Amino acid sequence: MAIVSALTGPSRDFLDWPFFDGSHKALAEKLDDFATSGALADIDHADTDKACRRLVKSLGEAGLLDAATGAGGEQPIDSRAACLTRETLAWHDGLADFAFAMQGLGTGAIGLSGSEELRRTVLPKARSGEWIAAFALSEKDAGSDVAAMACAARRDGEHYVLDGNKTWISNGGIADVYTVFARTGEAPGTRGISAFVVFADDPGFSITERIDVIAPHPLATIRFDNCRIPASRLLGTPGEGFKIAMRTLDIFRASVAAASLGFAKRALDEAIAHARSRKIFGNTLSDLQLTQAALGDMAAEIDAASLLTYRAAWRRDVQGLPTTKEAAMAKMVATENAQKVIDRAVQMFGGRGVRVGEITESLYREIRALRIYEGATEVQKLIIARELLKA
Ligand SMILES: Cc1cc2nc3c(=O)[nH]c(=O)nc-3n(C[C@H](O)[C@H](O)[C@H](O)COP(=O)(O)OP(=O)(O)OC[C@H]3O[C@@H](n4cnc5c(N)ncnc54)[C@H](O)[C@@H]3O)c2cc1C
Repeated sequence: MAIVSALTGPSRDFLDWPFFDGSHKALAEKLDDFATSGALADIDHADTDKACRRLVKSLGEAGLLDAATGAGGEQPIDSRAACLTRETLAWHDGLADFAFAMQGLGTGAIGLSGSEELRRTVLPKARSGEWIAAFALSEKDAGSDVAAMACAARRDGEHYVLDGNKTWISNGGIADVYTVFARTGEAPGTRGISAFVVFADDPGFSITERIDVIAPHPLATIRFDNCRIPASRLLGTPGEGFKIAMRTLDIFRASVAAASLGFAKRALDEAIAHARSRKIFGNTLSDLQLTQAALGDMAAEIDAASLLTYRAAWRRDVQGLPTTKEAAMAKMVATENAQKVIDRAVQMFGGRGVRVGEITESLYREIRALRIYEGATEVQKLIIARELLKA
């Protein structure tokens, strides 16, 4: 169902913050042009496979996947550009944000640790939108507890042979290339995991189940059954997989925070427009002090989250410093705050807030999973505490 809204695009005031330079302002203009070109209109959320294929292609054609793929491996990923893109796309449509984000998460480890040949094979195609990418870490019994991973890879001459299952794999079913983490057994727990690149047409690879979630996007359980791949598809060294996964997540966690900002800012923009126009008790909703208090809370929660998000991105891009703690803080605060902001917007819309086809209803569904994936909020708290206690 088409979403009803009179708003056309997000505010760009925050680009005056010192975290950004001219390239980010130019990117914001490019993103706004993309949004007004019609590329984000009529996205069919009932057929997410088709919609995502179309979105990845149009993002690639517009040059917007550069920020997800480090210009196809030619440059380091600019975290602020990735965050700005996710924030903008999420403001417009959750599926557009998803399509962009997975091109980055699905190829990030290849950019960080892939051989020159793998980088040259995969990254330009992910950049152009010709190939769709996925990141396969989670399993049924190994989500937060990555060390419980059972999917295994054994070396056999010039090959690795993968056996096992992965679940909750975004883009599962439509991806051409998967970054896969599997147990290779160099050491117990997380020190015995390696990372590989698997192509959808590799023998022994299959999709066993498609998964429906609250805000639908392509999602699947995948299976490796005697899946034989060249040893050159190993990323980094044997046993380095967990570190590679965490380094990848360190980059993209701040971008999950940015997507939350996009959803939250849209909710606030919609709430302001609604409060100004809704007639109530002979006045408008915005004249009521309880409404003003809610708007004040929402705006402050968004700015707090925004500062943490772009601080993490700036620290990585400009200072070149580790961002494990900063990215975890940003992800935790931005996703949790966005949930609160969106819930208040739903409340302010009254009955309309939960009606299918209203933007508030869609935002309410879109935000929920962000508090769970790429490390749930509880896990982010532990990451922050571990970094504090280590110091
Ligand atoms: C929409 C969606 C898309 C996803 N996409 C991908 C993807 O593309 N690739 C991929 O690999 N995975 C993906 N995931 C999986 C996601 O990363 C996991 O769902 C997440 O890591 C949580 O794992 P789990 O579901 O097994 O929950 P569990 O790990 O079982 O966690 C259950 C609860 O326990 C809490 N918990 C964890 N540790 C502690 C602790 N120490 N103390 C107290 N509580 C704790 C968690 O925060 C959570 O609330 C996706 C998930 C969703 C929902």
